[in-house]
This record gives sequence, structure tokens and C-alpha cells, in this order.
Amino acid sequence: MGRYIGPACRLCRREGVKLFLKGDRCFTPKCAVEKRAYAPGQHGQARKKVSPYALRLREKQKLRKIYGILETQFSNYMGKAERMKGMTGENLLGLLERRLDNVIFRIGLASSRNQARQLVLHGHFLVNSKKVNVPSFIVRPGDKVQIHDSSRSKVLIKSNLESAQSKNIPSWIQMDVSTGAAQVMAFPKREEIDVSVRENLVVEFYSR
Ligand code: SF4
Repeated sequence: MGRYIGPACRLCRREGVKLFLKGDRCFTPKCAVEKRAYAPGQHGQARKKVSPYALRLREKQKLRKIYGILETQFSNYMGKAERMKGMTGENLLGLLERRLDNVIFRIGLASSRNQARQLVLHGHFLVNSKKVNVPSFIVRPGDKVQIHDSSRSKVLIKSNLESAQSKNIPSWIQMDVSTGAAQVMAFPKREEIDVSVRENLVVEFYSR
């Protein structure tokens, strides 16, 4: 499947907010949103009236870009969320949050979702003792995620594991920071999902 391979900071500038796509750099003054707080392109600094449609579209794009998902897959998640019981917006966030690449990012074994995606693709993680190299794999309560034994000596994994000790791990995941093994304890609740997106607008975008 194709991926967006352009500059990540451009995506944040387009949405006008930090989407935290580049790990530690996002917390430094080098962040492009802080340096150039306007949309990219020739007309980026022009004042624009935002229509109700554009508002919903931007919210959807923001959520899609945060999790690094392409259009078709995102609308598939939306379809799945609609078929589930409960609030569609929360179901959608819950599904995105339970993606394996996101879990690896949340437990601090990668500095960004993009890096997590790469690490998963390269087969560095096991789910329930089986190698899983599919970033979109959806974890469920009870699943155990751990680093593949042969990957423990990798410099990047080692340094990520060290810095994971200072990360805030969401309460729906329990992690042993000394070994990097994590267990999914529950489905994530909305208040446990640290994503500032108005998911109701995303749902409204698809129900036009
Ligand atoms: Fe976005 Fe991070 Fe780039 Fe800032 S540094 S614009 S938050 S990707």
C-alpha cells in the first residue's frame, strides 16, 4: 500500500496544530508549527473563511494524519466503527488506538508512530509470543506485546526501552519497563486517548 512520504511537518502546518509526527523534535523550538504558524504553500498566509464542510474535513484529515493512515483504510475503520455498538466516534478512536504500531508508540518503544510502524514491519515485536509484522494489527484485552529476543540488542530498541521509563503509559496497558513486555488490560476509553480531535465532527463528515 502506498504511503505519504513527503515532509511530516507540512502535514502539521496544513492542520495548524502539532500532530507530533516526529518524536522528540516536536518538543523543541525547531518544530515547524512554532517557526511558521501558517499553512504551507503560496496562499498559506491568506485568510480563509472556513465552511462547515471544511471544518469537518480538516478534523477528519487531522485524525487520519495523526495515526498515519491512508484514505481508504481510514474509511474502512469508519465503517467498522459504525457497525460496532456504542458511539461511533469513540469506537473509531478505540480502533485506531488499538493498532499495534500505536501501542508500540504509546508504551514508548518508538519515538513516533512512524518509527513504530517501521519497527513493526521489520518484525521486532511479538504478540502472544508470535511474530507480528502488520502495523494495523488490532490488539485486544489480554494480548501480550513484547520485543523479539533477537531484536533486544538493536541500538534503537535499547535506547527506546531506556527512555520508555520516563513515558506516561496509558492506563489500559500495563508495562514492565525493565523487559519491555506489555499487556493490554482493557479497551481504551475516550478519556484515556490523548488525541485532541473532535471525533463527532469526523463522524458528521462521513454522514453527509
Ligand atoms: Fe509537527 Fe513535530 Fe514537525 Fe512540529 S516538529 S511540525 S509537531 S511533526
